[in-house]
Amino acid sequence: MEHKKHILLLTTGGTIASLPGGDGLEPQCSGVMERELEQLRTFYRITIKDVMCLDSSNIRPEEWKQLARQIYTLRGGYDGIVVSHGTDTMAYTASAITFMLPGIDLPVVFTGSQLPLADVLSDGPDNLRTAFAMAASGVSGVFLAFDRKVMRGCRAVKVRASGFSAFESVNATYSAQVSNLGLVINPAALPPKNGPARLWDTLCEDVFLLKLTPGLSPRIFDTLVDMGYKGIVIEAFGLGGVNVLHQGLQGIRRAMDAGVNVVVTTQCLYDSANLQVYQVGNKLLELGVIQGRDMTSEAAMTKLMWALGQNMNPAQIRDLFATDLAGEITL
Ligand code: ASP
Repeated sequence: MEHKKHILLLTTGGTIASLPGGDGLEPQCSGVMERELEQLRTFYRITIKDVMCLDSSNIRPEEWKQLARQIYTLRGGYDGIVVSHGTDTMAYTASAITFMLPGIDLPVVFTGSQLPLADVLSDGPDNLRTAFAMAASGVSGVFLAFDRKVMRGCRAVKVRASGFSAFESVNATYSAQVSNLGLVINPAALPPKNGPARLWDTLCEDVFLLKLTPGLSPRIFDTLVDMGYKGIVIEAFGLGGVNVLHQGLQGIRRAMDAGVNVVVTTQCLYDSANLQVYQVGNKLLELGVIQGRDMTSEAAMTKLMWALGQNMNPAQIRDLFATDLAGEITL
């Protein structure tokens, strides 16, 4: 008989493990996943650990750290790890874990569902099966599996609030897809190798994600400095435009003079910011902002939280954003 791959399932809550309660869906422990896991045991040896039991709206950087430590310390005895997680903030967690576990030496695959496993029509069984197949693939890295597609965790974005095709791999091809051939891995879309596995779990939580809107007061930047923010990711317009008239740039300059690291991405979901194209972008470059290029906002934010957590200075942070650590940026 073929040797079964040993997969560790870390559960964190989310819809996939929810049951209806008096106030709506409430996350439970892995017990409610048992019927589906029983099926999967035909193919895999499964060990389960309930790490937390939360709607992912309640997951904070503190929980990312807890999860990163569990993955790092427990990984030794397994072929792969599946993390079940609420879909709402799963892209943030998957991005953060990517940076906190450089060089991770086994597959770590996040998944969840839009309809609880307890529902006969749930998308959860499919998502779990894809996640387990990826976890058993021997391909190292942090991934997110959903709707028969697997993407790098640092490229995932939740694009649908209720549709089953809830996640897309933004500005990057899928790492694997399910077809009539089984799980087909795309070797060109796997994370780059990044040294031995390490746990670098210090994060700076003082990072703000700011979506520009027409006419936004530049005083917002002074408020963020006063509040103690050390990093700001600006979702600028289109290719990376900001309002440079009406004191628009001065607010950013004051924040940078106060030592705040400013990364500029685009509020468009697809394609890359390119500050060189327009005068309004070049003015930003002259100020010395860091280019987020085609990173998702989730990845830009968590990379900055992680860089500041490692006590990097502005020059080191600039270099880091000009480096592709895990397939999060196209240079
Ligand atoms: N609110 C849920 C969560 O993120 C949604 C889901 O899991 O689909 O935990």
